[in-house]
This record gives sequence, structure tokens and C-alpha cells, in this order.
Amino acid sequence: MYIAGAGMAGLCAAARARELGVTPTVLEKGNRPGGSMLLSSAVIWRYRSLDDFRRECPTGDPRLQRLIIEQLDDALNWLESMGAPLVSAETENPRTVGRRFDPRGLTDVLARAAGDVQTGHTLGSDPGTRLEEPLVLATGGFPIRLAREHGLAVRSNPWSEGDGLELGLAAGAATTPGMDEFYGRAMPAPPARWGEEEFVDHAQLYGHLARVFDESGEGIAVKDDDWSENGLVQEIARRGGRAWFVVDPKNLGRKTPYGTVAEVVERARSAGGTVEERDDGSLAVHVVAAVTHTIGGLVVDERARVLSKEGTPIEGLYAAGVDAGGWSTGGYASGLAAAVVFGRIAAQEIVK
Ligand SMILES: Cc1cc2nc3c(=O)[nH]c(=O)nc-3n(C[C@H](O)[C@H](O)[C@H](O)COP(=O)(O)OP(=O)(O)OC[C@H]3O[C@@H](n4cnc5c(N)ncnc54)[C@H](O)[C@@H]3O)c2cc1C
Repeated sequence: MYIAGAGMAGLCAAARARELGVTPTVLEKGNRPGGSMLLSSAVIWRYRSLDDFRRECPTGDPRLQRLIIEQLDDALNWLESMGAPLVSAETENPRTVGRRFDPRGLTDVLARAAGDVQTGHTLGSDPGTRLEEPLVLATGGFPIRLAREHGLAVRSNPWSEGDGLELGLAAGAATTPGMDEFYGRAMPAPPARWGEEEFVDHAQLYGHLARVFDESGEGIAVKDDDWSENGLVQEIARRGGRAWFVVDPKNLGRKTPYGTVAEVVERARSAGGTVEERDDGSLAVHVVAAVTHTIGGLVVDERARVLSKEGTPIEGLYAAGVDAGGWSTGGYASGLAAAVVFGRIAAQEIVK
């Protein structure tokens, strides 16, 4: 059994396979395990019900959404049982339930449980990879390629180019709707410079407290129910990828998840970003849409089997995490939740 990618989905698949008595070969392209999981806030969550999930991600695949609703709580218990360090048993969002872990501790626990991870090995380019073995694609989607093609910024691990997708397509796999959709954040636009350590607290997550304009000066409406501002970020991407958040002085003291608006604006300024003071006292911050993970991907069934264009399972080929698309199309859902649920399902399916 081969697993490509040692992020959340790949490590969970490997850990579950070993628990069931099979030792997989885990290939990781990067120089460390953890993928984007290590960089994340590690809040692993689900909507409260399938109806809520359907409402929030209306064009998503209900078969996959149901599995996340039904299996996530057991999966979280499993992570805790292995020693994943819990930070909070709450998500601090009334629309969701889940738990927050320490990302470094979670990665370390999973990497230990997964066994030997061969870092620096890229699926598809290593001559030793025998693809006739059962193979789980867990390469983290194609955020880097999507960002490059649309002139956006990258807010993910630096290795997820879409290798799993390419391999699936070469094997005749079908892709889901929403191949242009992504989960991301508005970040300070160049010349601002920010790195992995700033992915979380430099996010300009206060569009709902600002007036938002595209580069041509046309307003962008922020929807009341866009609580993650993922809809706003995608609209910015559709309009060329850059926008201005204009904040009135009275809103500078308002809270965002990462401090007050004034504090977050200051981080944009200190990173070298453009912050203009307008005559009316408002501050205009230049932002860029940044891609964290892709939402479209390979079509899988409830058993994590990759499906062909004819709708039949491709022998020996599985996908998990964001390589498998469709569970959050039309909205936003927890990538870590999908990764643990479908990583476990893929391993169970192969081992049984
Ligand atoms: C700043 C930030 C905050 C986030 N916060 C949250 C949060 O709180 N909650 C949440 O649910 N999600 C969050 N996410 C998203 C979450 O991290 C991802 O959805 C999740 O990690 C996806 O899991 P994955 O296994 O599919 O991909 P990843 O965890 O990214 O793992 C993919 C792995 O595949 C490897 N790889 C790529 N190509 C190849 C190849 N050809 N061969 C071998 N290996 C390859 C990569 O190097 C990587 O290690 C956040 C992400 C970021 C960046």
C-alpha cells in the first residue's frame, strides 16, 4: 500500500492502516511531514447537521458530507486516543462543533503513528514507485497551481502543485464541479512580504467591517452570512485578485479573530503592505486573495475510491483530503475534518 503525501489525510491513512496491521509506504515530496496541517490553526470541525452542511455548501456532494457529519466525532476521539494534544473542546463558532489541537503536537503524534515517512520523495517522479499497488492520493490538491494561474498569493504548504490530480487524470479519473473554487484569506498585497509564520495572524479578516473596492474602484458587497469571508476572497479573485479594504476610524477598535482591526492593519503595514490614510480619516489597506486549499478535485465515492469518467472505481486508486473534491463545493468546510475522515476510510477500505 502506497500513500502519496504526509499531510493530514496521508498521515491519518497511514496511522489507521498500521493500526489495522498493514505497513504502508508513505512518500512525502517536502522536507518534512505535516503539509498544510502543520501551518494550520488545527481546528477540526463540522457543521451541526447535514441540513446545515447542505445550506453552507449547497453544491457539495451530500454522500461525502453525510460521512463527515457521521464520522468526525469518532475520528476526533481516535486522534485524542493517540495522544494528539487538545487545546480546546470548542470551535468558538456556534454554527460548528469540533476540537482545536496544537498543530505541531498533532503532526508529531500522527507522524509517529504513521511509521516511516520518506521525505523528499515525489509521487510520479520516483522510478521505484509501483503504481499497481493500492495507492492513496493525499497530495493536498493544487493551491499553488491555482494561485499561479489566477495571479493570486499562496497560503499553503509550498509543495501542493496538483500532482495527485494529474496522476488521477492520467488514470482516467473524473473531476468534481468547482475546480476554480478555493478556501483562502485576504492577505496584505505586495510589496508586503509574509511567510508561513504569518499565515494566520496577518490575515485581513475584517472585510465585513470595511468598505471593499476592486482595483477599478467598484464596490464589492460583503454578504452577512459570509462568516469566514471565503465568499469575499473568491469574489476578489474573480475581479483580478487585488482589492482595497477601507476602514472607518470608528471600526478600528472592533475585534477580529486575530486582534482588533487596528492591530491587524498595523501588521499589514509592518509587513511592508500599502496602507493609505484618506482625507476622511479612514484607512485603505491593499489586499490580495491568497489560496489555502482547492475545493474541486478528483471524484471519489463513499469508500474513498477514485471514480472514472464513466462513474466506475479505478482499480487500486483512492483519494483523501483535498485531493478528493466535492465535499465543500459552493461554500466552506473544514479541510482537516475531510482529511481525517477520508484518510481513515481509504485505509480501512484497502486493508479489509
Ligand atoms: C494557515 C492555515 C490555517 C488553516 N487552518 C485550518 C483550520 O483551523 N481548520 C481546518 O480544518 N483547516 C485549516 N487549514 C486547512 C488545512 O490545513 C488543509 O485543509 C489540510 O491540511 C488538508 O489536508 P491534506 O492532507 O489534503 O493536505 P496537506 O495537509 O497539505 O498535505 C499534503 C501533503 O502532500 C505533499 N505532496 C504534494 N505533492 C506530493 C507528491 N507528488 N508526492 C508526495 N507528496 C506530495 C505535500 O508536501 C503535503 O505534505 C488551514 C491551512 C492553513 C495554511
